[in-house]
Amino acid sequence: MSLHGGSSGAPPAVGNAISYGGNGVSADTSRAVAIVSSQRLRLTPNKDHQPDTYDDLQSYFSPSIFSSLEGHMPPSMLGVARDDKVKFMQEILLKYLPPKIVKGHGEYKQKIISNYQPLHRELYSMNPTSFFVPSFLKAINDNTEQSFRSIMSEPHPGIFTFEMFHPHFCELLISEVENFEKWVNETKFQIMRPNTMNSYGAVLDDFGLETMLEKLMENFIRPISKVFFTEVGGATLDSHHGFVVEYGKDRDADLGFHVDDSEVTLNVCLGKQFSGGELFFRGMRCDKHVNTGTHSEEIFDYCHVPGRAVLHRGRHRHGARATISGHRINLLLWCRSSVYREMKKYQKDFSTWCGECNREKKEKQRASIAAMKLELFRREGESTA
Ligand SMILES: [Zn+2]
Repeated sequence: MSLHGGSSGAPPAVGNAISYGGNGVSADTSRAVAIVSSQRLRLTPNKDHQPDTYDDLQSYFSPSIFSSLEGHMPPSMLGVARDDKVKFMQEILLKYLPPKIVKGHGEYKQKIISNYQPLHRELYSMNPTSFFVPSFLKAINDNTEQSFRSIMSEPHPGIFTFEMFHPHFCELLISEVENFEKWVNETKFQIMRPNTMNSYGAVLDDFGLETMLEKLMENFIRPISKVFFTEVGGATLDSHHGFVVEYGKDRDADLGFHVDDSEVTLNVCLGKQFSGGELFFRGMRCDKHVNTGTHSEEIFDYCHVPGRAVLHRGRHRHGARATISGHRINLLLWCRSSVYREMKKYQKDFSTWCGECNREKKEKQRASIAAMKLELFRREGESTA
């Protein structure tokens, strides 16, 4: 039984992102995996059922939560292996508790950091000359729109791509993630996946890379976003969610159509060898228009190149096609702006970048011009009559 939508059927919603129904019509804004009706929780717990013990469980949530939640599980779930029960329950719990806000996240992270032995310590503090290719570094140091433009291509409006990481950095980061995964498997530590759309991958912030990624956002992504994404808070990016996703055999296959819970998303392919896995973009949309149709001029597909970054607005609808062969690992940095989010609450007409808002606005203008012309024509007719 699969609790995840996986590659078939409707993709489950993302931790913080919004995911679409399989037909692309209905928006599912829930925070976690879609649970099919047969797997619904019972309103009253089964009192005859003796729950498993979870005291030894290394999890983000306390053992007592699992014991009490177990009685509420659907009857068909009561007899399955403890690991499967844990998985099922964690997904429900995560649905209501955004990971970074929830109390206890600090302890969870601390537990990992004090037990996990990093393989490449040099990754844990920002070292621009060994992380980035010289062209990227120079553009950042020059810090002008012209210098950014000189290393970037904008193959589609609002989507920027550029050479970013050194191949050696990519290799180290991949091997660090693999080492972390190995540790997770050996210790049976119940880690939280980056979001519920991905069953593989890891939150880099949770195992010690938070400070480095904070610098990456502040000193490298914010200056670029300030120029290209001002209207979505590009200049005031102040928090991030950094993670890797893995695709291929024994990993996730593809990623459903969705928007990110970010103002600006950095997506860098780290490797390795793979075919398929193209990103498909389908226009930027505000909350209100997130499920509207795509227009031909909004269609854009992008093939990942290891080391190369893609930078786009979080509200630029996208997904990833199946990785057909090999193994693909991407670094994702969701950058957010509290200032922008706060302002968005109070101001109307905030979505100048939304394809549909723009279309509506143009349509209104066209209609009013047409009405005006008609009126002039009528008056002319009257005066000549
Ligand atoms: Zn809109």
